[in-house]
Amino acid sequence: MHHKRIMVVDGSTLSRELIIRQLEDVLEDHEVTACQNAHEALDRLADEQYDLITSAVVLPDMDGLMLCQHIRQSQNNHFTPVIVISGDDDSRLLKEGFAAGVTDYFDKSLGYRALGTFIKDFQERNSGLVGRVLFVEDSTTAATLTMRMLDKQGLQVVHTKTAEEAIELLDKASANGEDFDMVITDFHLKGEMTGGDLLHTVRVKRHCSQQELPVLVITGNDDPQTQVEVFHAGGNDYVTKPLVEEILMARVRSLLLIKHQFNALKHQADEMRRVATTDGLTGVRNRLYMLDRGDAMISDAGQVPVAVFIIDLDHFKQINDGLGHLIGDHVLVAMGKLINETFPDGLNVRFGGEEFVVLLPHTADGRQRAEAFRAAVEQLKPQGVDISCSIGLTHSHDYPEADLNTLLGLADKALYAAKDAGRNRVCVTAPGANSAQEQRVC
Ligand code: GH3
Ligand code: MG
Ligand code: MG
Ligand code: MG
Repeated sequence: MHHKRIMVVDGSTLSRELIIRQLEDVLEDHEVTACQNAHEALDRLADEQYDLITSAVVLPDMDGLMLCQHIRQSQNNHFTPVIVISGDDDSRLLKEGFAAGVTDYFDKSLGYRALGTFIKDFQERNSGLVGRVLFVEDSTTAATLTMRMLDKQGLQVVHTKTAEEAIELLDKASANGEDFDMVITDFHLKGEMTGGDLLHTVRVKRHCSQQELPVLVITGNDDPQTQVEVFHAGGNDYVTKPLVEEILMARVRSLLLIKHQFNALKHQADEMRRVATTDGLTGVRNRLYMLDRGDAMISDAGQVPVAVFIIDLDHFKQINDGLGHLIGDHVLVAMGKLINETFPDGLNVRFGGEEFVVLLPHTADGRQRAEAFRAAVEQLKPQGVDISCSIGLTHSHDYPEADLNTLLGLADKALYAAKDAGRNRVCVTAPGANSAQEQRVC
């Protein structure tokens, strides 16, 4: 988000300083402009755009409500929230403030510290207009006007004239991982496809829900027939032409809020899934995840060769027995971390106690990577403890018929061979000269 420009209008030097100090305390990225009277404020407002204005109710040269009315009629700032700072018994504000365009009030008898909190909360409540908007409108004049309204709010807008191109843009955006947050589309478009067809494509062909991609439809009129059509096609809401800026922005705000809530929920769900499939101690995946993904990875192995590693710590029981379980746990944590760092491309799993499985795609010969990992474990010395590991591995393309379970069995045989040969080494199971046999090479 861009940094905030805030204007403070107050006749008293002391009040201005107190307000600015409070803003400094609560807001991170902002710039304050202080004005002593309404004329100075209006001069600046004529040239510059602000994100928030606070004003005293009584100013040396003008009534605060009058200043607010001027702001509402101004070119650059007629949308800018105005907070009036008043004494506790200003009943006039409640009666006349709304008509004058006052956004909110702060009762200064609550103290300036409370003002800081109030403004921070206010900013958070009102910072909903963040997002990427796809705007479909075939009339250049209408598009220019609407774009101006959207741009002013700091929204990122991509404009196109046809539904066909809109669909292409949606596809391209999701391929790039920078999805649109909402679509605003004219219902009547000149191409082959109308706004209704665009909606149909989004909802039915791409299975995009109203929460995942809110669509606001612009219609020529709001007779019941048109409304029914819009909602039937899957529109979240509609606005009628000619567009009224306040109405458009209110609708956009509420649809973006829906989208942001959808994103937050999705993020939570993803995070829960990650936690449920991750081993709590070591940070690699758990067996559940491997059962879920591993087989698919092996059945793709015709195209993508996979190396299957089983990594087992040597004499781990001695570490537990000699140094305690807690140190043992630290060693496991360090192993998990090293595995994830060494094999960022692998499906890395804690298979059991001190035994890990790594499924490494695009690896026709995993021996070198296994050997490099073994050497790194020797250097690791977590908590100052000397450790080593043995690694058994096999390759999917050597056993095209084998499923994951079979490949794990073959890798496990190699692991046993490595242990037998004295530990701290890598052993590979591969088909022998007679293909019914297998050989283990250490
Ligand atoms: P080898 O070289 O033959 O693999 O010997 P080892 O001692 O590593 O093998 P063994 O299977 O005899 O012992 C594994 C030990 O791992 C036994 C168990 O107490 C320990 N272990 C399993 N899970 C955990 C854990 O989560 N934390 C700790 N500290 N120890 C664990
Ligand atoms: Mg049109
Ligand atoms: Mg072991
Ligand atoms: Mg073991």
